[in-house]
Amino acid sequence: AATNTRPRVEAHIDLDALAHNVDLLAGLARRSGAATMAVVKADGYGHGAVDVARTALASGATWLGVCTLGEAAELRAAGIDAPVLSWLHLPDEDFAPAVADGVDLGVSSRPELDGVVAGARRAGRPARVHLKIDTGLSRNGCPPEAWGELLDATEDARSAGEVEVAAVWSHLAHADAPAHPTIDVQAARLDEAWRTASARLGGPAPWRHLANSAATLTRPDLHLDLVRPGIAVYGLDPLEAPDHHGLRPVMTFRTRVALVKRIAAGEGVSYGHEWVAPSDRVLALVPTGYADGVPRRLGGTMTVQLAGRRRPVVGRVCMDQVVVDLGPAADAADAAVAPGDEVVLFGPGDAGEPTAAEWARWLDTIHYEVVTGVGCRPRVTRT
Ligand code: PLP
Repeated sequence: AATNTRPRVEAHIDLDALAHNVDLLAGLARRSGAATMAVVKADGYGHGAVDVARTALASGATWLGVCTLGEAAELRAAGIDAPVLSWLHLPDEDFAPAVADGVDLGVSSRPELDGVVAGARRAGRPARVHLKIDTGLSRNGCPPEAWGELLDATEDARSAGEVEVAAVWSHLAHADAPAHPTIDVQAARLDEAWRTASARLGGPAPWRHLANSAATLTRPDLHLDLVRPGIAVYGLDPLEAPDHHGLRPVMTFRTRVALVKRIAAGEGVSYGHEWVAPSDRVLALVPTGYADGVPRRLGGTMTVQLAGRRRPVVGRVCMDQVVVDLGPAADAADAAVAPGDEVVLFGPGDAGEPTAAEWARWLDTIHYEVVTGVGCRPRVTRT
């Protein structure tokens, strides 16, 4: 007999939707004269960094953004030679391979610059750096009071041929609320830091970049030289008050029914019997659980799309199984569902299925965490 080679659980990635989103975002940027960096950190927000990167580059993005040197190296190892910026480093990292690979490096501090310069010396070529100023997010980025010192050290390295300064940049705290007053404050601080840098550094004037997805969609005045959308590339609306924008969600998290069975009224379902059948029932066993990224606390809250309808998950979510109530046995609820039928946990929402945004509401979190939580595991290196 033929065997089904589809995985038990899959995050299906619609690269056509991704291409559409990048085309839309890059079109907005182009109207402002800005280039587009597709942010593909965290394995492309759980969507698979290499495929996402290739599709984004074929759809109007000319840059890729990642968090770590390892993520940048993965892109280069896949043969992707487009400009890549990585921006979160430990000072004792070996920057030489990244410099040799032509990876641009975000620099937020003097120790980080020193590490980059050491890497450039070992690599035998200048490192391209993007100096990051903390304009109010208080995360990475150089505090304004240390900016002058960082610029002096950068100019020494630049005039020694060890670095080229590609950009001065920052990251917004409240971009999801486009009228938030801190946005203009941050933009003004970036502008000031860029002016100081342009005055102190020799060489060509550096670029400026600030905009994430939300600012790319809503603040053309902040597109500057380069926009850095992440979440919108994956079709998810970053705004506090979502306004579809024509984005198409890229990930569908789906599985298939393993078993359909009847139980009698009064029988308990799953560990702890938190749900007890109110009548003779038909249940579908769905072979996915918290080990696959279905949070245990969604038991009793979540619904799935199965045979054209939303159906509730009843009882606790287990490590690799959940139970779905198909309805009263008297209604012959099992007639419509068979083992092997597709179960959509979340998707674009076009067919009525839950979306990543709906999961985020159930979980009191953001869709960023939903898609990375599904697609990225295991990410923590086992040592
Ligand atoms: N730029 C930087 C520095 C980031 O850290 C991120 C993601 O957090 C982005 C851009 C993309 O942000 P978003 O996914 O909100 O578009």
